[in-house]
Amino acid sequence: MIAERVKSILAELPEGVELEAAAKTRTAAEIEEAIAAGVRIIGENYVQEALKAKEEVKLPARWHLIGHLQKNKVKKAVQIFDMIETVDSYELAEEINKKCQKINKVMPILIEINSGKEPQKAGVMPEEAVDLIKRITKLPYVKIMGLMTMGPWLEDPEGLRPYFRLTKELFEEIKALNLSQVEMRYLSMGMSDSYKVAIEEGANLIRIGTKIFGERRKK
Ligand SMILES: *Cc1c(COP(=O)(O)O)cnc(C)c1O
Repeated sequence: MIAERVKSILAELPEGVELEAAAKTRTAAEIEEAIAAGVRIIGENYVQEALKAKEEVKLPARWHLIGHLQKNKVKKAVQIFDMIETVDSYELAEEINKKCQKINKVMPILIEINSGKEPQKAGVMPEEAVDLIKRITKLPYVKIMGLMTMGPWLEDPEGLRPYFRLTKELFEEIKALNLSQVEMRYLSMGMSDSYKVAIEEGANLIRIGTKIFGERRKK
C-alpha cells in the first residue's frame, strides 16, 4: 500500500518538486517501505522519535526536522538532522549555531513563517521575517535555505491558497535581496490535503503523511 501511494504521488509531481514523507508515529518498516518506493526525505516532528527511527531505518534518506524544536533538544537535533525546517527565532538559530560549531557542521535551515498570523502558532510573523533572516546570516554555522509554512487549520484546502501565496511572495522578496549566506532554494508547504494547492502556489517541497502511510494511529 505505502509503495503504491508513494509511486502515484511521485508520478504526478511536477519537475523540481520534492516529496518529503512526514513520518510521525510510523514504524521503521513503514518508513523503509516509503524510501524503497522512492522517498528521499523523511520529516520527523520529535527529536526522540527521529533518533529511534534513524537507528532502525537502514535505507539511506535525508532527515528533516518539521516539528517545533526546544532549546534543550538542539544538541541532539544538530547531530541527527540534515535540515531543520522550523527555525522561527534568533535565539533558536543562535543555539543551533553554537551546538553546530562544536561538531563543525553547518546546518541547513528553513525559516518557519506564521502565514496565518495566529498568535498561538509557531513561526515568525511574515513582516518580521526579513529582519530575522538578516540577523541569522551573521551566524556562520547555520545556512538559510528557504521558508516553510503550515498555514491555519482549515477544512477546505482552497482556503489555504492566500497563505501559501503570501509565503511564496515573501520567498521571492528575500531571494531578490541576494543576501550572502542565504540560498533561497526550498519552499516547504502543503500536506496531504493541501499539497496540490501548495504546488500551484510555488511549493517545491511538500510534506505528506496520511496520504502515504494512511490514517495515523493513536500513540
Ligand atoms: C504531520 C505533518 C505533516 C503531514 O500531515 P498529513 O496531513 O498527514 O499529510 C506535514 N507537516 C508537518 C509539520 C506535520 O506535523
